[in-house]
Amino acid sequence: MKAIILLGAPGAGKGTLSESVKNATDFIHISTGDMLREAVKAGTPTGLEAKSFMDKGELVPDDVIMRIVEERLSQGGLDDKYMFDGFPRTLEQARLLDEAMTKAGGVISQVFLLEVPTPVIVSRLSGRRICKNCGAVYHITNIPPKVEGICDRCGGQLYQRPDDTEATVLNRLDVYQRQTASLIDFYEKKGVLVRINAGETPQEAAKEMLEQLA
Ligand code: AMP
Repeated sequence: MKAIILLGAPGAGKGTLSESVKNATDFIHISTGDMLREAVKAGTPTGLEAKSFMDKGELVPDDVIMRIVEERLSQGGLDDKYMFDGFPRTLEQARLLDEAMTKAGGVISQVFLLEVPTPVIVSRLSGRRICKNCGAVYHITNIPPKVEGICDRCGGQLYQRPDDTEATVLNRLDVYQRQTASLIDFYEKKGVLVRINAGETPQEAAKEMLEQLA
């Protein structure tokens, strides 16, 4: 088992970038945010537990996250290649992921840090729209759909995530600084950190990442 990680503040473009990488490679995309949103939509016990944290822009407790990730990994094969998006988000999750990978005989080969200036992030998140049906990501000015409010790909309705409103966005950025940014140092010391300039277009970020992907 091999894994890469997409690390970066909310709005750095992890979701958009992982779409490009998924289409160009055989990495399996694992987004804990998407998994949690599905659990909330389905009304599962995990979803009910996670919802109040997500609505405030706070992190869902580590034990909940590790449970859903380990459950997902246990369904895969030994040769699978995973791309984690939005996970790990705390040092504890990173340590537990290391343990799980070691146990499975796997490695975290590269951690891509998506670097974006804060004002760009705020504008990206507040303009972000998502397809209710297929999850495709748009932006009202940067990546507008052909018809306003409608997904180009499947015709589904676009919506704004409840945690993409300005107050929650600012809290999520603060949470990132306090709880997730220390992972940069953690992975830099392990020698697996790759910095990507993700402040320009999604195409440029994808090109840079695919060039660096080992
Ligand atoms: P995302 O779609 O990655 O921005 O995640 C949306 C929300 O889900 C976050 O604001 C957190 O509340 C929760 N979440 C997603 N991934 C994690 C994680 N690895 N650890 C804790 N909370 C998470």
